[in-house]
Amino acid sequence: SPMKKINFSAGPAILPASVLQQASAAVADLDGSGLSILEISHRSAAFDAALTEAEALVRELLSVGDDYGVLFLSGGASTQFFYTAMNLLNPDETAGFLDTGAWSAKAIKETKLFGKVNVIASSKASNYDHIPTGYTVPDGLKYVHVTSNNTIFGTQFKEWPETTTPLVADMSSDIFSRKIPLEKFAVIYAGAQKNLGPAGVTLVIVRKDLLGTVQRELPSMLDYRVHIAKSSTFNTPPVYPIYVMMLTLRWIKEQGGVAAMEKHNERKAKLLYDEIDRNPKFSGTVANPFSRSLMNVTFVCTDESDTDRFKEAAAAAGCDGIVGHRSVGGFRASIYNSMPYEGVETLVNVMKAF
Ligand code: PMP
Repeated sequence: SPMKKINFSAGPAILPASVLQQASAAVADLDGSGLSILEISHRSAAFDAALTEAEALVRELLSVGDDYGVLFLSGGASTQFFYTAMNLLNPDETAGFLDTGAWSAKAIKETKLFGKVNVIASSKASNYDHIPTGYTVPDGLKYVHVTSNNTIFGTQFKEWPETTTPLVADMSSDIFSRKIPLEKFAVIYAGAQKNLGPAGVTLVIVRKDLLGTVQRELPSMLDYRVHIAKSSTFNTPPVYPIYVMMLTLRWIKEQGGVAAMEKHNERKAKLLYDEIDRNPKFSGTVANPFSRSLMNVTFVCTDESDTDRFKEAAAAAGCDGIVGHRSVGGFRASIYNSMPYEGVETLVNVMKAF
C-alpha cells in the first residue's frame, strides 16, 4: 500500500486514524444494523442516537447550556456569513467587525446585505499579519463578529474583545482546540472540515434569546428557530458528516476534552514556531507571538529560491499539503487537533536537515 502521508492541509484536513477506521466500518455496516450509514434514514433510531450523542458531546465539551441551540446545518461557514445577519440584524442596526482576514472580509460583505457594518479594527493594511489590539468596541452594536482563527494568514485571537456586546464568531479553524468563555458568544459557527470531520456539515451554537429580534420574514431553511425546533432534522441533514463529527467529538473527549487539546496544540505549535525562529533558512510571516495561530503556521523560505527545493524535501518525508493559500504563497502547516506531535516532529526534522 502507498505510504500514509502526514496531512498538513488547511481543510478538508487530517482526522484521527481511529475515526477514519470507525467511519469506514460504518459505511459497510452501522453498529450491526445490517445497513450502511450512507443508506440509513435520517429518521432512523440509529441515526437519531448519533445525532443526539453529537449534540450532547458539543454541549459537554464546551459547557453549552439549554439557553443555546446546537445545530448541524449545511451550506458551510460561508452560508453563516449571511445567515447570522439575517437572523440577528435589522436594516437599521449595526454589527461591529474585527477585520482580520479574507474570511472576515467575506462576512462583512454578506452582512452589509442585511444591516449596517462598523469595522472596529482591521489589519488589512499590513496584509493581515497580526490581530489588532488597542481598539475600543463602541456602544450600540447589535453584536461584534470575530474570525477566531484566520486560516489563510495564520493569526488567531488569544484574547477576546473587551466588551459586553455579544460576540458572533467564525470558529471554523479552531473550534474545540481550546477552552472558550462561552457566555461571551451569541453565535459560534464552524464548517466541520478542519477540526471536526468531513466537509458538508456546519456546527452552529446559537443563544436563543437573541432570535426573533429581526422584523424580516425568514425562509424556513434560513431561520435558526426552525432548526432548533426540529433538532436539525427539519429537512434531511448531512447524515454521514454528522456521524463522523460525532466520532471525532468522542475522540476529543477521550483525549481529555478541550483543555487537553489546548495543551497538545500549544506544545505542537511551539515546536514548529521555535524551529522557524531558530532556523535562518525560514522566516515566520506572523512576527508577533501574541497573534500567531496554534492551528495554521505560516512561513516562507528566507531565500525565495529555496522554496521549490523545500517543497520537494517535505514531500519526500511524506508531509502533504504545506503549500500556503494561493492568495498568500509560501508555506502553511495546518496542525489541527488531530495532528499528532510526531507529525510536527517529522516536518521540523525536514527543516533542520534543510
Ligand atoms: N471561515 C474560515 C475561518 C475558513 O477557514 C473557511 C474555509 N477555509 C471558511 C470560513 C469558509 O468555509 P466553507 O468552505 O465551509 O464555507
